[in-house]
Amino acid sequence: MSAEFACAACRAPFLTPHPLDAQSGLCLLCREGLCAYEGAYSYGFYGGALRRLIHLYKFERVETLARQLGRYLARALPRDGKAFDVMVPMPLHWRRRWARGFNSTALLAHEAARHLGLPVVEGALRRTRHAPPQSGLTSAARRRNVSALFNVPASAQADVQGRRVLLVDDVLTTGATARAAASALKRDGGAAQVVVITLARAGRREQFGGLLQQQRESAGYKTKGAAG
Ligand SMILES: [Zn+2]
Repeated sequence: MSAEFACAACRAPFLTPHPLDAQSGLCLLCREGLCAYEGAYSYGFYGGALRRLIHLYKFERVETLARQLGRYLARALPRDGKAFDVMVPMPLHWRRRWARGFNSTALLAHEAARHLGLPVVEGALRRTRHAPPQSGLTSAARRRNVSALFNVPASAQADVQGRRVLLVDDVLTTGATARAAASALKRDGGAAQVVVITLARAGRREQFGGLLQQQRESAGYKTKGAAG
């Protein structure tokens, strides 16, 4: 993750410094208050050997890789003295968990937790349903669609309320799912802070054409040429 330009808050990497505000060092999403999490750290980029390891672990169900990957995940966190209270794994949809035979993300969180010395709260986030396709929805519907992806069950609220949460996932792509999960942790759970850690980060914002535009629309911005 070196030789990159990264947002000072969410750590989104960029190829050039231009997307970042010269004074604050923040990306557009953070400047506009659209990022629900305070930071995002990854062990590496999604490619090569790391990608193969993640695939073996998740899809070939090589559960014994959890220990090694958990160590990588723990190392994704910079040693800058930032403290956290709990780790929350990104929940798999029950259909996927059933198909996969094990909860790969929760297992990963538990392995990393042994190095970080933090408790893991497995039931803090609940996926409400499969993410339906976003295309063809109006921006308001899309916004409802994304924010309703997760909730925090009442039974888990005491574990999240006022806490600094490390949200664990395997790969961070556009960050849209992580943002939805982070908003639920704050909105329903009253989390004080959410920082995302993943094994790998896929791509850079510039490579996702129209993503920023889509996010601005879904946040209620009027954009040129867009109806409604
Ligand atoms: Zn940012």
